[in-house]
Amino acid sequence: MTLVADSAVACPADGLVCRNCGAGYPLSPVHACVECFGPLEVGYDDGVLAAVTRASIEAGPANLWRYAGLLPVGQDPASRVSLNPGLTPLVRADRLAAALGMRALWVKDDSANPTHSFKDRVVSMAATAARGFGYDRLACASTGNLANSVAAHAARAGMTSIVFIPSDLEPGKIVQSAIYGGTLVAVDGSYDDVNRLTSELAETDEFESTAFVNQNVRPFYAEGSKTVGYETVEQLGWRLPAQVVVPVASGSLLTKIDKAFREMVASGLADPGDWRVFGAQSSGCAPIAAAFDAGHDVVQPVRPTGIAKSLNIGNPADGPYALDAVRRTGGSFASVGDDEIRDGMRLLARTEGIFAETAGGVTIAVLRSLLRSGALDPDGETVVYNTGDGLKTLDAVSGIVGPSVTIKPSLRAVREAGLFG
Ligand SMILES: *Cc1c(COP(=O)(O)O)cnc(C)c1O
Ligand SMILES: [Zn+2]
Repeated sequence: MTLVADSAVACPADGLVCRNCGAGYPLSPVHACVECFGPLEVGYDDGVLAAVTRASIEAGPANLWRYAGLLPVGQDPASRVSLNPGLTPLVRADRLAAALGMRALWVKDDSANPTHSFKDRVVSMAATAARGFGYDRLACASTGNLANSVAAHAARAGMTSIVFIPSDLEPGKIVQSAIYGGTLVAVDGSYDDVNRLTSELAETDEFESTAFVNQNVRPFYAEGSKTVGYETVEQLGWRLPAQVVVPVASGSLLTKIDKAFREMVASGLADPGDWRVFGAQSSGCAPIAAAFDAGHDVVQPVRPTGIAKSLNIGNPADGPYALDAVRRTGGSFASVGDDEIRDGMRLLARTEGIFAETAGGVTIAVLRSLLRSGALDPDGETVVYNTGDGLKTLDAVSGIVGPSVTIKPSLRAVREAGLFG
């Protein structure tokens, strides 16, 4: 079982490491430590990482594979199972900044990815690893966007897929998962119920040749999220932002943006500096924010409610690590209710022309809340992450925005509606 084919770029990954006890494992489709049951992550050979330069990255393709020298898979272009996401716009958001009283704000707009969420990044890593390990079917438990991306990647690669979602997801996400032609299983239960089911399935003989992208190849999956952090640094001109606000479901994305910044400094690609990481949750599902407020290291599971369905993970796998990244960098967590989430979506849309899904509304509303509480510095350079497209969650706002007026097709009707000013 080998992952790395001949390639001009060396693979920097030299094994899997337990995040809890530090035990080492070969690069293989395992995700939990046999010593302590802790989660595994990819470890890197510092010497190989150091060989990556700004120039070598800038000479690469205009997608996340420009960072292949910092990733565990995909050094050989022929090995990639990918829609080639990444290098999404980093939008200087002066009008939103002015509305919020901030000095320097950017929106990293990951809704521009091929299936319109940041999940294409993690699926590119997981699917490439899965094919490298010899799996012939892709699967996942999903709050929606992951299912969209897994089904699309399987279609492009000519692999089969089976994705599991809670049956009460938004219609847009159900249709987008189904259109790519794989098997879509709607489960009457929460995401946490779906996740428990797929964990059990992954252990059965019948699913032996199926890669669950966020379970048995999770260490590879998770590394994909680093690329949005690398891009932030590169697009700022190889500088670190002072503050980032990240939407949180399992907590993986948040921990990997922090890891990306640490690697950028360690490999000399960015100048050393301090950054603070802030986590955004909806109050319908805020188990990590609650642990932060209570000063706990352990996250107490909750039963999720509320419109930010893509973030509705009540028992977050990376909760303790997200808490650690936020505490270590001097950031904090905040959570916001459904009305604030809708207001956040509208504020971003009308100031910057970016229509975010509910998760983006959470992030903008939390940004506002952190400014009000004084936790976030309005003068610090700040990047917020929009992780999904508003067309996926139309229902969240369709009741509160619509035509200003409906008229007959005549000049008289335009005048009578007061549209001549
Ligand atoms: C999956 C997802 C996230 C965050 O996921 P993590 O599990 O915390 O990595 C954020 N926004 C959107 C839109 C998502 O689909
Ligand atoms: Zn361990």
